[in-house]
Amino acid sequence: MTAQQTFEQLDTYRALVAKQQPSWPDAAALEYAKQELSTQPPLVFAGEVDQLRERLASAARGEAFLLQGGDCAETFEAATADKIRDRVKTLLQMAVVLTYGASMPVIKVGRMAGQFAKPRSSNEETREGVTLPAYRGDLVNGYDFTEESRTADPSRLVRGYHVSASTLNLIRAFTQGGMADLRQVNSWNQGFVSNPANQRYEALATEIDRALRFMDACGVDHTALTQTEFYVSHEALLLDYERPLARIDSRTGELYGTSGHMLWIGERTRDLDGAHVDFLSKLRNPIGVKLGPTASTDDALRLLDKLDPEREPGRITFITRMGAEKIRDVLPGLLEGVRDAGAQPLWVTDPMHGNGITTANGFKTRRFNDVMDELLGFFEAHREVGTYPGGIHVELTGDDVTECLGGSENIDEEALEQRYESVCDPRLNHMQSLELAFQVAEELKR
Ligand code: PEP
Ligand code: MN
Repeated sequence: MTAQQTFEQLDTYRALVAKQQPSWPDAAALEYAKQELSTQPPLVFAGEVDQLRERLASAARGEAFLLQGGDCAETFEAATADKIRDRVKTLLQMAVVLTYGASMPVIKVGRMAGQFAKPRSSNEETREGVTLPAYRGDLVNGYDFTEESRTADPSRLVRGYHVSASTLNLIRAFTQGGMADLRQVNSWNQGFVSNPANQRYEALATEIDRALRFMDACGVDHTALTQTEFYVSHEALLLDYERPLARIDSRTGELYGTSGHMLWIGERTRDLDGAHVDFLSKLRNPIGVKLGPTASTDDALRLLDKLDPEREPGRITFITRMGAEKIRDVLPGLLEGVRDAGAQPLWVTDPMHGNGITTANGFKTRRFNDVMDELLGFFEAHREVGTYPGGIHVELTGDDVTECLGGSENIDEEALEQRYESVCDPRLNHMQSLELAFQVAEELKR
């Protein structure tokens, strides 16, 4: 097939309904931005993407565990060295807790370097009688509540690409350049305030340190511990961003999305006949699909038929987000139905998005206990059916924010007023993230 034919096949999505897309006011500026993006180098490489697919295949077989996490919505402003470092450190710490607890390789995937576009329940937002377009993520418009800021601006597509590139560059430096050396396991805790989860982590890190020194004394080669694989992922929502970054791999002639290693389809855009499913079905990347409480076995199987007709190991990750109240009722049937049809996708829990509440003082939040409850429900459902609980997908930050209620610091409704920084959904803070990792490690040990 010629390159032109390959891209013609990719572009069939243009005839289908694409939900959750902005209306760009300036068509010429949009064309310019897309053109500019199409001439930029890929952010990730086909070989890395293939490697992640193989890693995910091992998780689907129960031989590894996926840890996927990061902001609900990254912002350009927060793409600073300190914040990126702390998020990576938090994920590395969680990975250590999980690896040590479960004696299983942990696949680390950030919701990072591209998580800039958000689906919204309404196209508009009204504050004190003023109605403006909803904030759709930094890739589209600004969070500030002014006409100018909320107008969709195509130059943000190009800026988003560059911010993603610098974020990824720093992630690569941190994880390949010494910071992720397992012999530094103790130092990842530094800079975080002293609290119960950090103390528990420190005890674990000291234990690992001793084991490493023992191995050292025995003359074991440590090179495998000095670097770690770290992948990036985001919701492939904004097709005007994803399409120019779809590229043909010169090795094989196949199409890859080069905006991130793993791309996922959100709960609101996973329509079987919609543009997102069609577009992503043409790319070689591992594809995630969010499944909410209304998803039926038939929905899941038809998604597999479209996105993964060959049933390729590691290709599809189903990220379930059922809500703590529903997961025990709905997940076992879904797992059973898919298994009985002979498919073995990777099953991951997102214990965040089914548990949203709004407090009396007006904050969009989640209770840490509900998150934990859904997590436990996920493990119970898999034990019941005999399938593999293959990973977790969480919204988190390395900062000490107060966005989710509860945890051992007992963040209450009033405390939400202190440090609520998310521009979209509430994230677990550093300590809540570690607490969650210890709980998951306990489940994996069972
Ligand atoms: C998200 O991951 O931020 C999100 C919007 O999730 P979902 O598609 O599951 O609602
Ligand atoms: Mn979210």
